[in-house]
Amino acid sequence: MRFAEQRTALAKAAARLAAGGLTHGSGGNLSVRADDLVILTPSGCALETVTAEQMVVVDLDGRVAEPTPYRPTSELRIHLDIYRTTPARAVAHAHPVASIAVANTADELPAVHYTAAMLGGAIRVAPYAVFGSDELRDAVRDALRDRTAALMRNHGSVAYGDTLDIACAHLELVDWLARIHLAAPGGATLDATALTEVVQTALARHYTPFGPESTTPAGSDL
Ligand SMILES: [Zn+2]
Repeated sequence: MRFAEQRTALAKAAARLAAGGLTHGSGGNLSVRADDLVILTPSGCALETVTAEQMVVVDLDGRVAEPTPYRPTSELRIHLDIYRTTPARAVAHAHPVASIAVANTADELPAVHYTAAMLGGAIRVAPYAVFGSDELRDAVRDALRDRTAALMRNHGSVAYGDTLDIACAHLELVDWLARIHLAAPGGATLDATALTEVVQTALARHYTPFGPESTTPAGSDL
């Protein structure tokens, strides 16, 4: 079976999100890019039990590129659009409780902690549209501008990165920031100047750069 490495990594990342409580039922999906193809979780799977063999391979237009009894995730359009419009190499989407709570009550998740710089700053909320729709795809694209993550009202969150591990870490970071915001609504936030200072300090200390241009998170000291 081709793409064994990517299939295994996807199953592992799916189990990670499920174990972290970032989704519920069959919600959530993941993908990773390999040249001009995308390997992704199948429609209707539970992240906690999906296996490497069940992953689906499509081209960048969404055509299934490997024979399989499984159908690609219903959020395929979001994944493909992110690969077309960002430097993403992997995309993670889930239905985390705190992220949805913020998405339902605000237009953005403010930078409540300096690690928000890793995501490009405050996280926008994409307005609600039904799953699998062009409207939702477009809303997510707009919300992701200059960011590596976005919230989706009445739905969930999405994040991307250079690897599946980084995409998952970004999704987890968004939910952690959302929990802080919910615990202290109206609390202090960081502005763009402060976040730029975080990035510059990380660069000066030779931590791996982060932000929307490089999707790699910073060193462990940050
Ligand atoms: Zn979803």
